[in-house]
Amino acid sequence: MRILFVASEVVPFVKTGGLADVVGALPKILAARGHDVRIVLPKYRSIDSQKFNLLPLMPEMKVRYGNDTFSGEVMRTSYPGTDIPVYFIDLPHLFDRDGVYNSQNHDYLDNDRRFASFNLATLWMLKGLDWAPEVMHIHDWPTGLIPALLKFHPEVKSDEFFSKIKTVLTIHNLAYQGNFVPQLVADIGLPWSTFTSEGMEFFGRASMLKSAIVFSDMIATVSPTYANEIRTETYGAGLDGILRAREERLVGILNGIDTKLWDPANDPHIPAKIQAVTGAGRAECKAALQAKCGFPQKKQVPLIGMATRLTGQKGIDLAADALNTLLAADIQMVLLGSGEERFENFFREVANRFPKKFAAKLAYDEALAHQIYAGSDMFLIPSAFEPCGLTQMYAMRYGAVPIARATGGLVDTVADASIRRIEEGRSTGFLFADYNTPALLGALQRAVSLFRDDQPHWDKLRRNAMARDFSWETSAAAYEALYERAVAPAAT
Ligand code: ADP
Repeated sequence: MRILFVASEVVPFVKTGGLADVVGALPKILAARGHDVRIVLPKYRSIDSQKFNLLPLMPEMKVRYGNDTFSGEVMRTSYPGTDIPVYFIDLPHLFDRDGVYNSQNHDYLDNDRRFASFNLATLWMLKGLDWAPEVMHIHDWPTGLIPALLKFHPEVKSDEFFSKIKTVLTIHNLAYQGNFVPQLVADIGLPWSTFTSEGMEFFGRASMLKSAIVFSDMIATVSPTYANEIRTETYGAGLDGILRAREERLVGILNGIDTKLWDPANDPHIPAKIQAVTGAGRAECKAALQAKCGFPQKKQVPLIGMATRLTGQKGIDLAADALNTLLAADIQMVLLGSGEERFENFFREVANRFPKKFAAKLAYDEALAHQIYAGSDMFLIPSAFEPCGLTQMYAMRYGAVPIARATGGLVDTVADASIRRIEEGRSTGFLFADYNTPALLGALQRAVSLFRDDQPHWDKLRRNAMARDFSWETSAAAYEALYERAVAPAAT
């Protein structure tokens, strides 16, 4: 099948979160399964043309947006280590900037025209290449206008070239909706008939995510539990009604992980190779991480890791609240994260007060993330909501036992510990249900007690976690089935 992945971030070119990991991994698996897969993303300033060998493909590209016309070009390369074509829409006026979505935590004020133009430019690129995919697989709000453009943009819908293209949306996070001024609708060339409560109108705004939910042929989200949650008011972020209306076309498909990039037995970022399941090599990784954090190198002190965006979604307020109690115990903790300033200030201050037990690395640091998965005994993910979550899967593969709130994909990937379930090989971590500090502390307490008082069971728990298979094959097959449904005549 011919499949085009359209996304705003793709590993290794550009990454702000898990979306980039997913769009960097799934195409490779689908290509290996025999599909003609290609990828398109914007050419941001941070993408190094020389390093990735970007070559000119279409020298002239123009997109109209309201009274403006943005011009640029399309470049291409092959996905590293494969022959998957990757296209870059290079519209310098919109994308030649420091950030992807924002600069210093402030969203760019013209994200509507940036990403709407990227969506339309993608269609013009396909026409220019004379390559029509059977399925355009779009990801989150930055690609959300594509289904509406295919169905309603006058120049697109009247063109036979586009007429058979179907769309599949993956929702990686319902909280980011791309809601903008209504003028977006007209400026990108869509008719006002799309701006209704059954269409892309959302509380008076033009919503790129809602547009995708309403007009795409099939919808996936990144875990079965999240697929259920988002149809409820609590987790629906205002879109639960429309998701319920389309639930026959909504499926939950758990993300996999790229087992080559995240391979503890062969990871250039970590100080020692870690053997699968036995975990040999972890002690060295822990000692190195302790040294890096300025902690005493003690084997018997539990080392808790976090690597996360510092936002409300990730339960950072709970972690912050728990910290005082936690630091009264004999533990060590390292937090890698960047995001909201109030959180950064708080953790910086705590790290200054407790330099021997708490380290705050307030940055985005890929290598250190790997070192934390490899060297921590436990990995904390207290999310308020979590569509899938990749960090718990990386943690488990590297032998850090996850302690997670029971929500979304965390429920689908972490099995709570009891002695019996540990012995049966079923438990892989610790879950807590209620979103509050006592519940978080309760789970941490259970973990720390087991670590201290019952090393044999702790060891077995860690082995269970390391033995879990999070490779993409099963999920890739589920996506194939979804593409088939999208192109089946009944799905029109
Ligand atoms: P989300 O996409 O909501 O941020 P995921 O768990 O799906 O959450 O993916 C997060 C990804 O970003 C993981 O690959 C994780 O290792 C990485 N990550 C998060 N924060 C940092 C950071 N400060 N430095 C390096 N990597 C980070």
